[in-house]
Amino acid sequence: MAKVLYENDIQKEVLQNKKIAIIGYGSQGHAHAKNLRDSGYDVVVGLRPGKSQQKAQEDGFAPYTVAEAVSGADVVMVLLPDESQPKVYEDSIKPNLKAGSALAFAHGFNIHFTQVVPPENVDVFLVAPKGPGHLVRRTYEEGAGVPALYGVYQDVTGTTKELALAYADGIGAARAGVLETTFQEETETDLFGEQAVLCGGLTSLVKAGFETLTEAGYQPEVAYFECLHEMKLIVDLMYEGGMENMRYSISDTAQWGDFVSGPRVINGETKERMKEVLDDIQTGKFAKGWILENQANRPQFNAINAKETAHPITKVGQELRALMPFVNDPINKKEKEGK
Ligand code: NAD
Ligand code: MG
Ligand code: MG
Ligand code: MG
Ligand code: MG
Ligand code: MG
Repeated sequence: MAKVLYENDIQKEVLQNKKIAIIGYGSQGHAHAKNLRDSGYDVVVGLRPGKSQQKAQEDGFAPYTVAEAVSGADVVMVLLPDESQPKVYEDSIKPNLKAGSALAFAHGFNIHFTQVVPPENVDVFLVAPKGPGHLVRRTYEEGAGVPALYGVYQDVTGTTKELALAYADGIGAARAGVLETTFQEETETDLFGEQAVLCGGLTSLVKAGFETLTEAGYQPEVAYFECLHEMKLIVDLMYEGGMENMRYSISDTAQWGDFVSGPRVINGETKERMKEVLDDIQTGKFAKGWILENQANRPQFNAINAKETAHPITKVGQELRALMPFVNDPINKKEKEGK
């Protein structure tokens, strides 16, 4: 079994008295910066002027540019969108990186696919939380944490592993468990998970169920509750106690339907398609396509995004969530506040 590390396994002193620069203040950036600061570390945030910088300032961070934050930093954590990392790295990070410092990432994409090539005189590590940034912050405040993977790509100082672990601990991940990986494994499994199961697999499953019911004449509101809203309640049971806990909680009728109908929907053919998805990730075909799509200013991304947003499930969902004040819908909230 893989070795999972917890708070007692961490040597915090390797990160103490070090200056940590968090580059970017989005989903992961705000969570890492605030959690590390609350854990007692010296944190600066590096950003271009704009909305994020304003937010960082409201949260008490001085308004440094990326270059200013990197200069003199001992650990530089790059939390920019993956597709903008190579340019910002070349322009503002690389020229200011101190010899013997550490360059860090929360996802291995740019190092693994050689879009960022670090100099030989710095440590390079990965701390990848296995959860969205907003939960990295929320669970930390609750005294819990989101588990994380850590990995070492380059070890100049001989202490990169300890540094990565102390960093993971600083953002609260060691409360939930920290697991060793490589940049390759993290990159390939993360891309596969989000494409085939968590994001792509899930949205396609929900849409197919919603469409099947509404095309058969059932009310869209009923289809929404059944195929999307209830998903969270079911997944919460799996999160707390695995599939066995979910199956314990549902009726035996539901469990029998799970056994006989689930494999009719997701079957050997689906698994063959999943293997193709994994193959495209492993060969670099997916990465190449995404890099080219960005270089062309995202024509396909934008077209598909517009089509997805226009799906009937969007409208019915917005209407129903507006009537459930306990569901904290960030999009409804923004509209109400006129943002
Ligand atoms: P994000 O899009 O939420 O935030 C990016 C931040 O970078 C913003 O503050 C933005 O203003 C800033 N930024 C963008 N372009 C910039 C530029 N050219 N110069 C300066 N600042 C710029 O990003 P994210 O989702 O937090 O992702 C950051 C990293 O974390 C990625 O490597 C991603 O793969 C990884 N990651 C994200 C999640 C997640 O929960 N979103 C989970 C695990 C790992
Ligand atoms: Mg995003
Ligand atoms: Mg992921
Ligand atoms: Mg990802
Ligand atoms: Mg039911
Ligand atoms: Mg049962």
